[in-house]
Amino acid sequence: AKSAGGNRYELADPEADARAITRHGLTTALPTALDRGEFFIEYQPLVHLGDGSVRGAEALVRWLHPQHGVLGPDRFIPLAEHTGLIVPLGRWVLEQSVRQARAWQERYDGAGPLRINVNLSPCQLSHPGLVQDTVDILERAGVTPDALCLEVTESALIGADDDLLKPLRRLAEMGVDIALDDFGTGYSNLANLRRLPVSILKLDRSFTQSMQQFPADPVDLKIVEGIVSLAHGLNLAVTVEGVETGAQAEQLRILGCDTAQGWYYARPGPPERLHELALVDATG
Ligand code: C2E
Ligand code: CA
Ligand code: CA
Ligand code: CA
Repeated sequence: AKSAGGNRYELADPEADARAITRHGLTTALPTALDRGEFFIEYQPLVHLGDGSVRGAEALVRWLHPQHGVLGPDRFIPLAEHTGLIVPLGRWVLEQSVRQARAWQERYDGAGPLRINVNLSPCQLSHPGLVQDTVDILERAGVTPDALCLEVTESALIGADDDLLKPLRRLAEMGVDIALDDFGTGYSNLANLRRLPVSILKLDRSFTQSMQQFPADPVDLKIVEGIVSLAHGLNLAVTVEGVETGAQAEQLRILGCDTAQGWYYARPGPPERLHELALVDATG
C-alpha cells in the first residue's frame, strides 16, 4: 500500500484485506486439507560440527494448497493452533517423520542411527494424549525413543508449571530427547534450565547471524561462548540453526557448538535427499 504521509491512518489497506480473506479462507480449509493429504514434510539435515557427518534431520511441515501453492508453516501453524487442528496435524507429522526415520535407518546406519527432530506446539504439550500417542507411534514404526527429539520453544516453557512439564519428563525418562528451540530469544532465567527436562539447546538463528562477519563481534562471541559453556556444564548439547556460510560454521565449531543446521549444508528437502547426503558422507 502507498504511504499516506504524516501520521495519517490508511483507512483501506487492500493488502491487509487480502491477508484477512486468505487467513479466513485458510482457516476453514485446514481440516479438509489434512483429510485430503495436502500436507507434506521436508527434512533438513542435522550435521555434526566436529566431523561433518549427517546425524539426522528436522521435520518441517508444508501445505500444498490447491489454489495458493506451497505454504510455509508460518502461514498456517498459528491458525492450526488457534482452531485446535494442530493436535491431529502434529500427530500426523510425528507419525510420518518417525516412519521416515525408520526407512532411513533400514538403508543407512553410519555413525549411529539417523535421528529425527519434530516440532511440538504448546497446544500439543497440554494435550493429554501426547505421551501415549508418541509411545504408540514409535512402537508401530519400530523406532527406539532415543532416535526421536521433540523440539519445544523456549517461550512455550517459560513459566511452565509442573503439570505442563510432566509429559515432557515422562518422554525424557523413556529416552526421547527434548530440545529447547529458539533458545536465547525468550527471557528465561538461566537457572530455570535445571528444572526443565531438556537435553539439547537449539541456539536461535540470530546468534548465527551475528557470526556472519569474520572476526565476529567480540561481545556476541562472548555470549555464545558463555551459553555453550553453561550448556555443557549442565550436560546439554548445543545445536545451532540458520548456518548459511562456512565462516559461520567454523566460528560456531570453534566456540564448541555440537550440531548445526542450515542452508550451508542443505535446504529443507524431500526425504531421499537426506539419504543421499548421508551416503555421500559415509563413503567419504
Ligand atoms: P524452526 O523450528 O525454528 O525451524 C527452522 C526454520 O528455519 C525453518 O523454517 C527452516 O526452513 C529455516 N531455515 C533453515 N536453515 C536456514 C538458514 O540457513 N537460513 C534461514 N534464513 N532459514 C533457515 P520453516 O520451515 O519456514 O519453519 C518455520 C517454523 O514453523 C519452524 O521454525 C517451526 O517453529 C514451525 N514448524 C515447522 N514445522 C512444524 C511442525 O510440524 N509443527 C509445529 N508445531 N511447528 C512447525
Ligand atoms: Ca525447530
Ligand atoms: Ca537421549
Ligand atoms: Ca528454531
